[in-house]
Amino acid sequence: MNLTEKVFWHDTLEMPTDAILNDLPQKADMVVIGAGIPGLAAAYQIAKRGVSVAVLEAETIGWGASSRNGGMALTGLKLEAGVVESRYGVELTRQLFEDSIASLTTVEQIVNQEQIDCGFNRTGHLLLANKPAHYESLQLEAEWFAKHFNYETRIIAKGDLHAEIGSDIYFGGLVDEVSAGLNPAQYVVGLAKAAERAGAMLHPHARLIQIEKISEGYKLKTQRGELVARQVLVTTGGYTGTATPQLQRRIIPIGSYIIATQPLPEDLAKQLIPHNRMVFDYRHFLNYFRLSADNRMIFGGRAAFYPETDSTIRTSADILRREMERVFPQLAGYEVEYAWGGTLDFAFDQMPHAGQLDGIYYTLGFAGHGVALGTHLGIRMADAILDGKVRELPYNAYEFPKAPLGLYNGKPWFLPLIGLWHRILDWMY
Ligand SMILES: Cc1cc2nc3c(=O)[nH]c(=O)nc-3n(C[C@H](O)[C@H](O)[C@H](O)COP(=O)(O)OP(=O)(O)OC[C@H]3O[C@@H](n4cnc5c(N)ncnc54)[C@H](O)[C@@H]3O)c2cc1C
Repeated sequence: MNLTEKVFWHDTLEMPTDAILNDLPQKADMVVIGAGIPGLAAAYQIAKRGVSVAVLEAETIGWGASSRNGGMALTGLKLEAGVVESRYGVELTRQLFEDSIASLTTVEQIVNQEQIDCGFNRTGHLLLANKPAHYESLQLEAEWFAKHFNYETRIIAKGDLHAEIGSDIYFGGLVDEVSAGLNPAQYVVGLAKAAERAGAMLHPHARLIQIEKISEGYKLKTQRGELVARQVLVTTGGYTGTATPQLQRRIIPIGSYIIATQPLPEDLAKQLIPHNRMVFDYRHFLNYFRLSADNRMIFGGRAAFYPETDSTIRTSADILRREMERVFPQLAGYEVEYAWGGTLDFAFDQMPHAGQLDGIYYTLGFAGHGVALGTHLGIRMADAILDGKVRELPYNAYEFPKAPLGLYNGKPWFLPLIGLWHRILDWMY
């Protein structure tokens, strides 16, 4: 296997390297921690509203999940509408799902206004049933959308699936035409440039180490010196660390891994995913896959639960290759050229959260749905902070829970248990 442990998307543009580091300002009205999609979207909006904003990034701009994900800009949340409704009622569920649909418009508008060349294309998504019971759940989901907010999705029976996917292993699917695909590295770098053009100051290699409350706001100690902020917004995703311990205790960092094949012949690519959709399956240990602009199969999954290391990437590449050939036996013999991983941010309730804790604002818990929703929530959060309306956000209407029984200090000792539990759930349901 001619494999590089490298992010395929990073080879499609020049990623920011930050050879010359800019000086940190002494103060800013707003400081955003983390230069991923939600952080940069928030900085973009804050700067557009004429408020001074600095972004502190521990590594390089767009370094985290935001440049390494599957590039699936999706409607919906991690949890099904029915589960969300059973917890929070119809009205809040409707608001959350409408917002997730609006998030696609937000991405599209930014891409068009800022001319971000990232292959944004509304090709829709296809959610696949791994078992007959999953197909029944997909039907219920489609009915829920139609009944509660007149939203059309399309159910595909097993017998008709070949029009959507060149695989025989699934039991039906659900198509949502509103979702889109994009190249995430090109998107996040484009977002960073748009934020800078609007006036945001971006500071790579400026890891936040400590926050201290002072009379003017907050004193932020970073690896490159100190600055004072009137307000702070934390968007550190699955890499949330000890600088914000109250948030770290609420986020479980979970690894997700992707492989990319060599470019496939056009006719084979068309046979595998005829409408170029963003595809994922229904399992807890899910697979997700799509084609790149040059017809590579980009195939991801939760092959290991631990955040990425060289060894988890290598092991995951083997697991994902086997999974990919199980889904598409036609791909046997094609080279896997890239393998990489990144870390997802899961809250204990698997819901996205945006609010304020000990005076610090946050948007966290995207659970693998942060490309579109992260953009939208970044913008909404920026507006809500500036307008004093954070409490009105639907993402602030439910609790941001800590681990049950307080059994978590930010070191996810229980990840193997979650992995095992998910395998049991996939076996049972
Ligand atoms: C392999 C993979 C596939 C995925 N696929 C999809 C997909 O197809 N569709 C989808 O919607 N979502 C997907 N996701 C999730 C999506 O990438 C994220 O939800 C989204 O990018 C939002 O990211 P974020 O900015 O919150 O986190 P990140 O992009 O990880 O950014 C957080 C940043 O914070 C920085 N940071 C951390 N601590 C500090 C500190 N103390 N000081 C300064 N900076 C700090 C980190 O260095 C990092 O750059 C995927 C994720 C992974 C890992």
